[in-house]
Amino acid sequence: MFDTLSDRLAATFKNLRGKGRLSEADIDATAREIRIALLEADVALPVVRAFIKQVKERAVGSEVSQALNPAQQVIKIVNEELIGILGGETRRLRYAKNPPTVIMLAGLQGSGKTTLAGKLGRWLKQQGHTPLLVACDLQRPDAVNQLSVVAERAGVAVYAPEPGNGVGDPVKVAEDSVAHARDKQHDVIVVDTAGRLGIDEELMRQAADIRDAVSPDEILFVVDAMIGQDAVTTAEAFRDGVGFDGVVLSKLDGDARGGAALSVAQVTGKQIMFASNGEKLDDFDAFHPDRMASRILG
Ligand code: GDP
Repeated sequence: MFDTLSDRLAATFKNLRGKGRLSEADIDATAREIRIALLEADVALPVVRAFIKQVKERAVGSEVSQALNPAQQVIKIVNEELIGILGGETRRLRYAKNPPTVIMLAGLQGSGKTTLAGKLGRWLKQQGHTPLLVACDLQRPDAVNQLSVVAERAGVAVYAPEPGNGVGDPVKVAEDSVAHARDKQHDVIVVDTAGRLGIDEELMRQAADIRDAVSPDEILFVVDAMIGQDAVTTAEAFRDGVGFDGVVLSKLDGDARGGAALSVAQVTGKQIMFASNGEKLDDFDAFHPDRMASRILG
């Protein structure tokens, strides 16, 4: 996903090698190159600006270190700043004191929510939980079925409306699922919600109604890393329309530039908590800003 960005940054740092000391002109030239690399990778402009400002200030003000040469010093600063825009520390899921913990998934259609429900279900099970996946995407005819299929593959239970019983009312399904989870001793429920291809008011209202009905402990906004700059506008729309506590990046295995998705944490002030990098249930893990920064820096 970040190959081009990695290559450009590597080329930039290569130019610094062999220099005994960095002049202000060197730092300016390097900052310009990093700026181009980030913009080409689709990182949002305000994020790029803030990033470059920090890197420049720190590079100019940095003590000449005995242990690091100038190139290493700049790489260290860029690495630390990258970790910063990716959210700093890894944030873990918050579990409710009184189970079930309610995790609600929100995002556009096709962003990967249903797939994520399966991945998260399996991951939670591996952590010793007894998750229940809840089918509240009643817009897409096949969505309930798709969730049942991923639940079965993940080896976890699913709660879906029986035909003729509350069909069409995702808010009621969500509400009922909480009682069902208590009854059947599921300690975490993962609520899959409907998404449209574009942002639309009805979708936001429905997601907000589900939110109000079940008071989620975590609302996770799922964003397709391949959608480019729309990732940021979509995140802002969901932040304002539904609100969310954390971000999940999906399709990080794609060959798009991905920088926009990396801007989402910075723009919305919410951490990236998980990353998906494939269609299989195991293509998924908690998101670690430091590991991602190292991956980008190669
Ligand atoms: P939803 O509409 O938000 O529920 O999205 P889906 O879970 O149905 O995913 C839409 C498509 O993206 C499906 O074809 C998934 O197999 C695919 N998909 C989901 N996550 C990933 C991922 O991390 N990588 C890749 N390559 N495909 C994914």
